Parts: sequence; C-alpha cells; structure tokens
Amino acid sequence: MDLGKISSIMSRDVITLEPKEILMSAVEKMNFNNVGCVVVLEDKKPTGILTERDIIQIIGHNIDLNVTRLVSVMKSPVIAISEEIDIPEAANLMVINGLRRLVVVDGEHNIIGIITQTDIIKNLSIDSFISFKKVEQIMKRKIISVDKKDILPKAIELMIKNHISCVLVIEDDKPVGIITERDITKSIAEYNISNNVGEIMNFPVFTANKDINLYDATKLMEENKLRSLVIVNSEGDVIGIVTKSDIIKNLRADYVELLKNMLKEKSRALIESEIKYRTLVEQSLEGIMIIQEGLIKFVNPTLLKILSYEEKEMLDRDILRFLYPDERQLLLENLNKLGNSEHVESALELRIMHKNGEGIYMEILSTQIQYEGKPAVLATFRDITERKNTEAELKRLVITDDLTGLFNQRYFYIQLVKEIERTKRHNRPLSILLIDIDMFKDFNDKYGHLEGDYVLKKIGEILMKNVREIDMAFRFGGEEFAVLLPDTKHDDTIIVAERIRKAVAANVFYPFTLDGQPDIVSKTVSIGVTEFHIEDNKKSFLKRVDNAMYQAKKSGRNMVIHLI
Ligand code: GH3
Ligand code: MG
Ligand code: MG
Repeated sequence: MDLGKISSIMSRDVITLEPKEILMSAVEKMNFNNVGCVVVLEDKKPTGILTERDIIQIIGHNIDLNVTRLVSVMKSPVIAISEEIDIPEAANLMVINGLRRLVVVDGEHNIIGIITQTDIIKNLSIDSFISFKKVEQIMKRKIISVDKKDILPKAIELMIKNHISCVLVIEDDKPVGIITERDITKSIAEYNISNNVGEIMNFPVFTANKDINLYDATKLMEENKLRSLVIVNSEGDVIGIVTKSDIIKNLRADYVELLKNMLKEKSRALIESEIKYRTLVEQSLEGIMIIQEGLIKFVNPTLLKILSYEEKEMLDRDILRFLYPDERQLLLENLNKLGNSEHVESALELRIMHKNGEGIYMEILSTQIQYEGKPAVLATFRDITERKNTEAELKRLVITDDLTGLFNQRYFYIQLVKEIERTKRHNRPLSILLIDIDMFKDFNDKYGHLEGDYVLKKIGEILMKNVREIDMAFRFGGEEFAVLLPDTKHDDTIIVAERIRKAVAANVFYPFTLDGQPDIVSKTVSIGVTEFHIEDNKKSFLKRVDNAMYQAKKSGRNMVIHLI
C-alpha cells in the first residue's frame, strides 16, 4: 500500500531563528504563529531545534528567558529527512528516536519544511500503524491535576516532575479544564505566568469512554484539535488520560513486539534468509542485540556502528564486558527481573562502552524471547547522549552565575547544607570566606555599570585562581563572593584569604569615566573568615562570617578579619 511521500503532507511554514537570539523571542514567535517548535538555522542549515517541552523544562529550572541564548539550550544536532522518503518510514523514525517532529531538508541540507506527529497520525491508515488496541491499554492511570485556583507555576512544576504534557484542572472533584504545553508557552509570551490556571485553561474537557480504540481516539483528537483526551468509565468518572505522545510511544512498544514475534522460534539463519526480517533488523535505526546466558548472540549493524565494533569483537562475548563496572549490577538486576515475563520492560538508562573506551548513554528496552530454541533476551538500544548532554547543560546553567562563571547563590545554599552535614557526620573542619568589594558604589557611579561588571568578572577570575581544587567559589550576591573550604581550619583559611586580598589589590584596571576620560585604578576587598563550630547551624555560621566582614569594613577595608 502506498501512503505517499513526506512532501505531500509536510508543512512548509517553519519558524526559524538564529542561534544568538534569546529564548524569549523564540517563545513569542511560537505563540504568534501557534506552533510547537522553532528551528535554529546557521547559514540556512538547521543546527538545532527548540520545542514547547524544552521551554517548559527551562522555565522549571528558573532560567531567565530574556538573557539566555538559543544556542545554549537548543537540541542539537537536528534529525533531518529528505522530502522523498515515505510517510511510514518517517513515522518509524519518530518512534525510534522518540521525537514529535522531524525537519525536512533538500539535497544541500537546506531546510524546506517540518513534519509533526499530528501530520503523521492524520495520515496513518488503520492497517499500517494504529492498532485496534483499546485506549485503556495505553492510557496513563495516574491523573495529575491542579485546582482551578492554583497558579500556573504549580502546573509547570507538575508537568516537569511527572514528564507529562498536560495537567487536568479540577474544581469540586470534577474536571473543568485542561492545561497544555501550548497554553503555557502562550502565557509566557504574554507575561501571564502568575495567573490562575482557571484563567488560561482550555474547557470544556473532551472525554471518551475507556472502550474506545486508538484509531477512533486519534480521530476524535484530530477532529477537535486536541493533544490529549480524558478517559472516563461508564459512570463518567475520570480514570485516565491519553496523549498523542502516548499513542506514538505505543508504536515503539509495538515495534519491539513486532521484532519479538519475528524472532520468536526463528533461528539466526532464518532471519538472515528472509529479506523482510533482515531489512527490519539491519536497517533499524535502533540498536538490536540478543543476549543468551549472559553472552551476546546477535548484534545488528546499527549497534555495531554506534559502538564502532566489528561483529566478531562482540559476538559470544559477555555483555558485562561492555558496561562500566559500577553499572553492571543494574543490568543484571534488570535482566533477572525480566524472568519469564512476556512484557517489554520499561526503559533502563546505561552507558555502553564505545570501542574507544568512552561511555555512550543508551536507553535500553528489553524483553524475553526464544532464540534458537532457548530463552534469551532481546534488547533494543537508543543513543540518548544528546538528551543527557542537554540535561547536563541545563544543570550547569542552573548553578552558575552568568557574569563571572562562578557558582551562584542558589548553589551556595545547596552546597552549604551538604558541607555542614558532612562536617557534622565526620567531625571534619569547614571554613568560609565572605568577600565584599570596597567602595564599589563609588566605582559604578564614576565609571558606569559596564566597567563595574568587568571588575566583578576579574575578581571572579582571581578567586578561581587562588582557591584550591576542593574549595568552591560563589558569587553570593551583587558584589559579594563566598568561598567554602572543606577540611580546612581557620589558620589555613586566613592564608587563602590574604592571598586573595593581595591578588585583588595588585590587579590594575583601566576604566573610562562616564565622560570618557581614561583612568588607572585598583580595587580592594574586605574579607570575613570563620570556621564552623559543632553547635552552629547554617544561620549562626553565616551570621558570624558576615560580622567578620563587617568588622573588616569598619576597621578600614582592604583587610581580612577572622572571628572564632
Ligand atoms: P563598602 O565598601 O561599604 O562595601 O561600599 P560599597 O559601595 O561597595 O557598598 P554598597 O553596598 O553601598 O554598594 C554595593 C554596590 O555594588 C551597589 C551597586 O552599585 C554595586 N553592584 C551590585 N551588584 C552589581 C552588579 O551586578 N554589577 C555592577 N556593576 N555593580 C553592582
Ligand atoms: Mg555589599
Ligand atoms: Mg561593597
């Protein structure tokens, strides 16, 4: 059956931005054009993509949309396809890569369109992908809801925590509306983020009976332009929710099922002799492996390519040899759990060792099969390095100060609690420095904020150079810095503080005054030092170091004062 090419259903209206633009303009463009993503272009070539889901993650991490650039948070590289490929093949690609959209490019890799889950689902025919499974089999039973009077940040927090794309709005135990990712980007674009959910929710809520099948559910969603459907039982009580992603995800489970059935009772020779099976296994974008009694019995070319091994280097080897020592137990437990269960197990995230020794983060789905007459495990592998990198980058952005690159105040409080606990548990010393720039207001008034910011940046560098590997330096506030020194008594701390004080005073700045006159100046800092006492808490510890710093100011500045 010919379902047509991508070119016949893709959308040619793609919203594009440059890497250097800020996140807020992406949000505004998404909202203005009512689309769920923007593509980031460099020399007309797609280099990254940013979706509603990403925006919500970013908001949830309190990252400032007005200062962060697309390039630092976009997903990259972009998975792009040619407009010549068949629709089912594109559907398969989405399923395998867990994407909601694919970028379409021409022969020169220039962008020409975009294709979404919705475009694909609209074009799936009954016998190609959507099964007659009941929605009840794939819906989420855990219903995440907010009260109509709750504020939007609460809905955002729930979405992130539960990895969901919508939350139900409840009033007097009844569903009265639904909040989706689209509603949230819209509110952000319109600066309505502190509104009650009741003011921005969609209503009425569309419901369907639990006995409806996926095909009809999909049609209902299409007709009413819904991303999700609330499922009720015969009494009309809400028992679940199903989203487009759930339907697409179900396709991936179906795909693994398909592989499983195909491999059931079949010998390797048979797989290789039957073209249909061979292409499915060999051309799969997903890595596939069969493990029997702990040994690798089959690996497809995709997985070999991801890991850069030759087939003979993996066949009949122990699977554990390709794992990091500290993650072996995790895999063993997962394999044991499979037992005789017929189900496809939920995803496991592990690093598999590349031939060069580097770990590649993979999401692994596994299931029990019969292979050459004996029980075995069929595992499929998806490379999730990119997702892991984005998570790591988000985490970095959350804990660093933009201007100086030091850790920020939020992270200071997290580390302070951790270090205090460690100190109490092991009875080890812990010291702190609080550093404040002297007469900084005067400097700003005379030379302007830009020159002032440069001083902050430079002092940040000096701090980084003058503390040890185990110490942590933070920008504590506007022009205040803190250093936590684990395992350090006050006499050593004073040495570090003096070194910092001298290094700052010795540094020369060449600012211009507000009316353009060049000048040559140095800046000084006042530093408070103290050590944690066993009877201290967070507050008393900080209070003492603050007092020490204040005394340094009072005693003439450019000074280190230590309070026991
Ligand atoms: P003291 O020696 O008593 O600390 O005097 P001070 O002028 O440094 O103290 P005060 O607290 O009065 O002023 C702090 C100034 O730091 C106010 C503001 O101009 C400046 N400042 C705070 N944050 C920033 C920033 O992010 N950039 C710049 N350029 N200046 C900042
Ligand atoms: Mg100050
Ligand atoms: Mg100051």
